[in-house]
Amino acid sequence: MYLAPVELLHSGKVRDLYADGDDLILVASDRVSVYDVILPTPIPDKGRILTQLSVWWFDQLGDLLPNHVISATDVPPEFAGRAIRCRRLQMVPVECVARGYLTGGGLTEYRATGSVSGVSLPAGLDEASRLPEPIFTPSTKAPAGQHDEPISFSAVVETVGAETAERLREITLGVYERGATLAAERGIIIADTKIELGWAPDGTLVLADEVLTPDSSRFWPADSWQPGRPAFSFDKQFVRDWAAGTGWDKRAPGPELPDDMVERTRARYVEIYERLTGKPW
Ligand code: ATP
Ligand code: MG
Repeated sequence: MYLAPVELLHSGKVRDLYADGDDLILVASDRVSVYDVILPTPIPDKGRILTQLSVWWFDQLGDLLPNHVISATDVPPEFAGRAIRCRRLQMVPVECVARGYLTGGGLTEYRATGSVSGVSLPAGLDEASRLPEPIFTPSTKAPAGQHDEPISFSAVVETVGAETAERLREITLGVYERGATLAAERGIIIADTKIELGWAPDGTLVLADEVLTPDSSRFWPADSWQPGRPAFSFDKQFVRDWAAGTGWDKRAPGPELPDDMVERTRARYVEIYERLTGKPW
């Protein structure tokens, strides 16, 4: 029963966060953001797909660490299917990124410096190269309107202390490896992923936000992956590339997506959901 309306705490680029008593309601919209700009055109079903895929992953990862989900069904009816009721945590002020392959911002940084977030890498790596082993490449959690910046492990130590920093790295690589192994069985490469963690009142680190979704990860079909050229992607890289190709200057407002891009983007979100979970959308 929802007699009092839940209270909007924060409207992010893609998600809206409401308070319901002590709990939070995390609602995924159909908005799509690229280069930190929300595009004017929504993608039908995207919010539901992101939420249902996260819920599925939280289950798969349940034995690795606790997560913030209280219920995926006990949410206000207007948000049904695209919201979770979750525990309100104190968020760790670091975006925890794991990379198993080199692309995007990681590749740009590697080409400039030979390393990513302070992790030095062997010479000769290229677009979509597989890394010798997955690496932890944290970034800042930039306030609204700013871009997340890569930071070194020692900067994480300065922010949260050595012990927590080690735990963040261990958890992030653990989630990546579990996810990547499961996805590989379904013919999908997880090139990289970003997770967010928060502290429960007793100090336990809890997996929060969304997990291993096409907004937080890069998913590539394994059978067409080839180092040296951009991979086909089941994630919003497709929209990023299209938007960049219009000559847009990456400042708000972003370009309107034509109908065929909306449909093709939706199809990719649906396909990755179906391939990973094995369930029809
Ligand atoms: P973006 O992800 O597009 O960069 P954003 O992070 O501001 O922008 P969203 O991701 O859309 O916005 O909103 C989700 C917000 O909710 C994030 O700030 C995230 O850190 C926060 N959050 C997620 N889970 C919890 C939780 N259990 N407790 C407290 N805050 C949470
Ligand atoms: Mg976020």
